[in-house]
Amino acid sequence: MILILEPNTSPDSPEHRALMAHLARLPNIQARTHQVRGAQQTLTEIYLIGDTSSLSVEDMAQLPAVDRVIRVSEEYRVIGRHDDQQPGFEFEANGVRFSQDNLNIFAGLCAVDTPEHVEAMMQALQAHGQFCTRMGAYKPRTSPYAFQGLGRDCLPWVFELAGKYGIRLIAMEVTHENHIDEIREALEKTGHPTAVMLQIGTRNTQNFELLKAAGRQTEMPVLLKRGFGITLEESLNAAEYLASEGNTRIVFCLRGMKTHLGDPHRNFVDFAHVPVVKRLTRLPVCIDPSHSVGSRQRAPDGILEIVHATAQGLIAGANMVLVDFHPAPEKALVDGPQALLLEELGTFLEDARLVHETWHRRRAIHAGPAKRGPTDTTQ
Ligand code: PEP
Ligand code: MN
Repeated sequence: MILILEPNTSPDSPEHRALMAHLARLPNIQARTHQVRGAQQTLTEIYLIGDTSSLSVEDMAQLPAVDRVIRVSEEYRVIGRHDDQQPGFEFEANGVRFSQDNLNIFAGLCAVDTPEHVEAMMQALQAHGQFCTRMGAYKPRTSPYAFQGLGRDCLPWVFELAGKYGIRLIAMEVTHENHIDEIREALEKTGHPTAVMLQIGTRNTQNFELLKAAGRQTEMPVLLKRGFGITLEESLNAAEYLASEGNTRIVFCLRGMKTHLGDPHRNFVDFAHVPVVKRLTRLPVCIDPSHSVGSRQRAPDGILEIVHATAQGLIAGANMVLVDFHPAPEKALVDGPQALLLEELGTFLEDARLVHETWHRRRAIHAGPAKRGPTDTTQ
C-alpha cells in the first residue's frame, strides 16, 4: 500500500509526526519513506510493507497529511506505475535533470585508456555544449586475458579532466561493491570536480548484492542495464532491488538482447520496449545504441545503423542515450569497431535533438483529452 502525502509535507510538521507515530503502532507493518522531487513540488510517498491486507484504503486516507492511498497489487512496488495519476520519477544529479520527458546524451569512451584520448573526448563534448559523458574504468570482459580497464588508478585524472571541461556527470560501470567506495574516495580526494552515475552492466543485472550496495547509497544515481538474456520482468525486478534499498534515482537502460536472431547486429535491438518500460515503471529510460548494434555499418541512405537505432529509441520517447565515441577507434582497447568519431559528434547530437523534439510533437498530436495516458502528466 502506498500513502501519497499532501505535496510539500515537511517531515517536521505535526501532521507528519502524528502519521508516522500511527504507522509505527500498526502490527507487522514497516513504513518506508520515498521522496519524489519534481520541478514544482516534492511528493512524499510512504510504502507500507508487510501485512497490509487488513488495512482499509478509506481509513488510511483519513490519516493526517495523507492525500491519496493506492493499494499495490502488482510487483515493482516502488518503481511501478500503479495508477495513471502517479507522475514519473524526476531527479537531479550535479545539475543534470532526469525524467520521463527530457533527454540527456552521454557520449564518451567505452573504456578509459589514455589521458590524451579522455581529454580529446571531453574537449569535443564541451565544444558541443555537452556536460555528460561515459567513461568505463572497470570493464567486465568475456576473456580473462582481455584488458580489464584501468580501474581505480585512472579515477583521479579522469575526474580532474572532467572538471576542466565542465563535465558534470560521468556514467561509469561498477562490477563490485568496492568500486563504489573507490569512486567515492577519488571524488572526495579530487574535491568533487564532477559527479558519477553508477552503471550496472548487463552481466550484473541480477548481481543482487551489487544492486543492494548501489541501492543503499543515494548520492550517486544508478544506470541499470537490462539483462541481455532474461525477461524484461526480471530486469525490472532488478531495478526494484535498487529502489527497495532506498535509491530511486534510477535510469533503466535498454541495450539489446543476446540472440543470433538479431544478426548482423551485435544484439537484437529492443528499443520498441521504451514506451513499455515507461508504462510499467516511473523510471526514465536510456538506450545504448552502441552495444545494441555493435558496428559502424552505414545504410544506403548515408546514415550509420547506430544512428538509426538511436533515432528509433528517441522517436519512442527515450530519455537518455549512452553512446560510444573515440578520438582514435583503431587504438581503442575495448569496442573500437562500434565507436563513433569525434567529427561525427555534431551530426549525432543534431539528429538526436531533432528526433526527441519530434517525439514531443507526436505526443501532442496524440494527446486528446480522452487519450491522456500516464506519461502525459507533465509537459
Ligand atoms: C558498457 O556500456 O560498457 C557495457 C559493457 O555495456 P553492457 O553492460 O550493456 O554490455
Ligand atoms: Mn563496450
